[in-house]
Amino acid sequence: MKKPPLYTTGEIAEAYRRSEYTVRLALRDQSLHGEKPTGSNRWLIQEQCAEAWSSGKKCPHYAENIRLMHEKTAPKAKRAS
Ligand SMILES: [Zn+2]
Repeated sequence: MKKPPLYTTGEIAEAYRRSEYTVRLALRDQSLHGEKPTGSNRWLIQEQCAEAWSSGKKCPHYAENIRLMHEKTAPKAKRAS
């Protein structure tokens, strides 16, 4: 499987002409999707996620995560009583 290239907050900031602070804020409020590898304090961002963010959209992973969350929580809603 080919892994998509990952970019740092600095690289994204430069590519989209935002400040690195703005990029970090977006990651924190989840308007920009990024990965933070365990044990690391550096964010890594996929190009398509940054692309979606810069045009005010959610990346494909966002919808996927929401769906997975629903699938995970759905069985818990059922209660045998
Ligand atoms: Zn994404």
